[in-house]
Amino acid sequence: MTEQRVKKVVIAGGGTAGWLAAAALSRQLGQLLDITLVESEEIGTIGVGEATIPTMRSFHAILGLDEREFMRATQATFKLGISFENWARDGDRYIHSFGDLGKSTWMGDFHHFWLAAKAAGDASEIGDYCLELQAAKAERFALPSEGEINYAYHLDAGLYARFLRARSEANGLKRIEGRIASVDRDGETGFIRALVLDSGERVEGDLFIDCTGFRGLLIESTYAAGYEDWSHWLPTNSALAVQSAATGPAHPYTRAIAHDAGWRWRIPLQHRVGNGLVYASEHLSDDEAHARLLGTIDGAPLTEPRLIRFRTGRRRQVWMGNCVALSLASGFVEPLESTSIHLVMTGVTRLMQAFPFGGVAPAAVTRFNEQAQAELERVRDFIILHYHLNERPEPFWAARRDMPIPDTLVERIALFAEAAQAYQGGEDLFRVASWVQVMLGQRLMPRDHHRLGTIMGGPQLAGVLAKMRGDISDVVAAMPTHQKFLDRHLLRPPRA
Ligand code: FAD
Repeated sequence: MTEQRVKKVVIAGGGTAGWLAAAALSRQLGQLLDITLVESEEIGTIGVGEATIPTMRSFHAILGLDEREFMRATQATFKLGISFENWARDGDRYIHSFGDLGKSTWMGDFHHFWLAAKAAGDASEIGDYCLELQAAKAERFALPSEGEINYAYHLDAGLYARFLRARSEANGLKRIEGRIASVDRDGETGFIRALVLDSGERVEGDLFIDCTGFRGLLIESTYAAGYEDWSHWLPTNSALAVQSAATGPAHPYTRAIAHDAGWRWRIPLQHRVGNGLVYASEHLSDDEAHARLLGTIDGAPLTEPRLIRFRTGRRRQVWMGNCVALSLASGFVEPLESTSIHLVMTGVTRLMQAFPFGGVAPAAVTRFNEQAQAELERVRDFIILHYHLNERPEPFWAARRDMPIPDTLVERIALFAEAAQAYQGGEDLFRVASWVQVMLGQRLMPRDHHRLGTIMGGPQLAGVLAKMRGDISDVVAAMPTHQKFLDRHLLRPPRA
């Protein structure tokens, strides 16, 4: 065994990414590492990123978090999926839920049974076979002990960072307040030796984690990793975000509502609602976006609308030398499916699994970069799918329909369109049920399906499906409303 060469880890940046990396490393490897985080309150954080996906629960188990404590500290609510409104056509609505659809077999997934029944005249919807989707529609919620359910959270990003900071500091992490002015590198190896702060202080380290947001202070300004631009597929480049007062019970889902040049989000927290308008500046001016956002929020605005510019794409390499970039510093594909925080978590998890104790090894770096690339490309395809399969008339949408899309996505759409085949590949975050819900939701109706439902015979198939629907609606009917559950779960007095 070689000696431990990498002992000092320096995290640059204290947004969600920096504090997640800090909390995980300090808890899991704190005994072996000396960890410092540098952040600048003056620069601040991006202040958005409040909808998540269920993988967060596994990561929280790694952090040893208590769910109630976390939810109270971050004003969190439960999330069962995303309600997509007006996406394929104005007036459409479908929910991409976190649940499974019906029961699948080794030969084919459940939707083939549903398609067989539909071909024979059954009028049910695919969502009738998904517990999470039905619960979301009914605005109800209950935890697994009261019925199996797959869920995530909506949370206040600022409070979340504060919560993670307290835990990291309790684990022995050192935080330094200050602006990074320059980076000192070894002339021979190119490795970073230290971050030099405005104050002149040097923060030395063996491994540096770049969590400085879009600017990518280490990975781009220092290492010049380069950026692969994806804006020809995902051309939105601006978001206006505003917080507003809650006007009613919190929905257990995020709303993503399409408009003529993009979409807007609505994220319900316990104490307020997060709203944002995402748009392509070529198709909508900032002033129009501002007016539109304020015209569509329900409660009184609690903050001034904040403009965020971005460019979709990815850093060509996320690990270079002794620098690993996470989150916005590593790339960005639209917040539509709430995947960014998840990608921080998988990045940190992979880093902990392949931690270079004995020194940075080229093969490990190559593998880390390849995994990050494949993972992000699959997410990218899933996001493009929502834009590409549309029937909207506006120029922004017509261009999304007509644009050439990645070959990997062409194949997926063809497989589903021809014979309803969908799959989850090795690097895919999204499961078959997700691809199916979104493809059907975007009005892609397959021309054919597997005949396994036909083998069963019409009456038997109808009976099995009716029982499934009945079982789900019984479970949902027994659930409290999401707001009631939340109040009870967090032991707060019920909302008046
Ligand atoms: P930031 O929050 O920008 O933090 C950067 C940190 O670096 C700050 O602490 C800053 O002070 C520090 N820093 C920068 N330069 C210096 C310097 N010179 N010296 C010292 N410190 C410095 N993700 C989701 O999972 N769900 C969502 O719903 C979601 N919605 C989003 C909506 C929009 C419009 C956008 C743009 C992103 C969204 N994301 C979402 C992504 C999410 O916001 C980010 O993944 C998350 O906030 C992490 O950001 P970050 O920590 O990388 O960057």
